[in-house]
Order: sequence, then C-alpha cells, then structure tokens
Amino acid sequence: MSGETLQVYFLGTAGALPTPVRNPPCILIRRGTDTLLFDCGEGAQQQMMRARCGFTVDAIFVTHWHADHFLGIFGLVQTMSFNGRTDPLTIYGPFWVHEFVDCLRLLSKGNLKFEIQSAELSQGSWVRFTGYTVTAFAANHGMPALGYVLEEDPRPGRFDRDRAVSLGVPPGPLFGRLQRGETITLQKEGIEHTIHPSEVMGVPRKGRKIVYTGDTRNITTSLTEYGQDPDLLIHDATYDETEVKRASEFYHATAAQAGEAAAAVNAHTLALVHISSRYTDTVSHVKDAKEKFSGNVIAPKDLEMIEITFRD
Ligand SMILES: [Zn+2]
Ligand SMILES: [Zn+2]
Repeated sequence: MSGETLQVYFLGTAGALPTPVRNPPCILIRRGTDTLLFDCGEGAQQQMMRARCGFTVDAIFVTHWHADHFLGIFGLVQTMSFNGRTDPLTIYGPFWVHEFVDCLRLLSKGNLKFEIQSAELSQGSWVRFTGYTVTAFAANHGMPALGYVLEEDPRPGRFDRDRAVSLGVPPGPLFGRLQRGETITLQKEGIEHTIHPSEVMGVPRKGRKIVYTGDTRNITTSLTEYGQDPDLLIHDATYDETEVKRASEFYHATAAQAGEAAAAVNAHTLALVHISSRYTDTVSHVKDAKEKFSGNVIAPKDLEMIEITFRD
C-alpha cells in the first residue's frame, strides 16, 4: 500500500531524567493501522493518553537497556492485559532482550493474558511488516545499543495516461490493471496487442524512511550505511556544544554532531531528542544543529506529532 498515513508521535524527548515537561524516551510511529513503539520510558502510558494514541501497540523496539528507555514497558503490558489483549507482543532489542522479557514475565507472575515474545536484533537484522521493514543498525553507546530504520517498500512509478491512450488502451478498468502491474491484451482490428506495465509506468519511487538513532555518540559509519536519505532523522542531541567533552565521555551526541550526521546522510528533517534535564529550552541545540545542517531542524516538545508525507 502506498497511501498509508505515517505519523511520528514524540511521547518522550528527555534524556536520562524526566523533567516537568519532558518524559524519558518514547517514540510512537503509526503507519496506517500499525502502531510501533521505539523505546518506552517511564510514564509512556500517560503520554499515550495525552496524545490520544490508544494503548494498542503491535511491537516494541528498544534501543538499549538503560532504564530511561524501557521502564514504561512494565505498566504498559499490564494495561494491555487489563484491556483484554490476547494477541502476542514481540519486544525487539539488542543483546539482553531475552533476559529482560524473562524478567517481565517473572514480575508479572503469569498475570498477563497474552504472550510476550523476545527477539534479539543486531546490525543488519530486519523485521518485516506489511509494506515496510524495520532494520537495526549499531549505535555507539558504550554497550550493545541499536538504532532503527523504518523504510517503506518502493511505490509504483507514475502512470503515463497519455502514453496508455496513444497505445490504444481505453480509459477505465484496464488502466487499473496496468497500474497494478498486470500485462493486458487488446484486440485491434482482429489482431492481439500485448501491453506491458513497463510501457506506461514510470520508474518505482522510494517509500518514506525514518531513522531513529537511540542514544549514540556522534556520527557512526553504521548510520551512514543504513540511514541514507531519510525523510526524518531522529537523533540523540543530549547536549549543546558547551558540553561536547561530556557528550563524548557519556557516549551521547551534541546537537551540532546530530546536525553533522543529518548532513552526512542527507536527511530532509532532523529531530533533536534525548535533551538533557539541565536545559530549560532548546534554542542553543537548534542553533548548533543548523550550523552543520541546512535542512529542516526541529526540537520537538513532548506530545508533538509530525506527519511524514511523500516528497515526490
Ligand atoms: Zn537514554
Ligand atoms: Zn543510554
């Protein structure tokens, strides 16, 4: 399907510690009727209520096992069970995901009415959904940590209506069959003509792409390998440039480094997240990133939603 809506809800944009206005990391991506969570920090449920996202989650991807990225899962699975969920839920993550899910099962003492599965991912692992794929890549965070790329399948090329008519295809149902990739046969003065979709369809167009780094130091080769040309790059920007040493020491990035990464992968929009609790605003973050990246830079507040539209 090519016309699905694609929405990104920033449910938690704080780094490490919550603040009165920012929750720990949680990004909800809704594509059509699918809902995926990327990290699920403490308080995620209330953010989901405030953003009116509902609690139905199809899969959870955790970037790494620092508590600010997973503490919200405990409450969320209880609520889904309370609400009568019976569909299994898979939690994806780097090394230690099986232990985490074992712990989740143990702590819920068999109270959950649905099954929780665990799947360990590493760089290059991918998970297939209808119409798109989520691929993991290695982040640089001093421990097993992943970023994720959500990329849609290519869309069919544009249909050349004039060309179809000039080939003798009457407007109507045959147009649709060609657009769906079917070869059609026409009768013209008693002679059969075959028309292939490639004669009337342009080259396939790229689907939309979102990259989320999770916690990471500045630009990594895995990001440049897996994260090229995203519509949206959501990047660790824990610090502004005054704390560049601290960023490196704690395996985080500055907003300027996020800007460099966005330029390196040719992002359309850069979203700065995981903002340290020491900052009361993100003015310096946005300024720093803009010095390195000429595209669109945003520092979303908690509960902001952006819709990713097709660029062509
Ligand atoms: Zn973190
Ligand atoms: Zn971390």
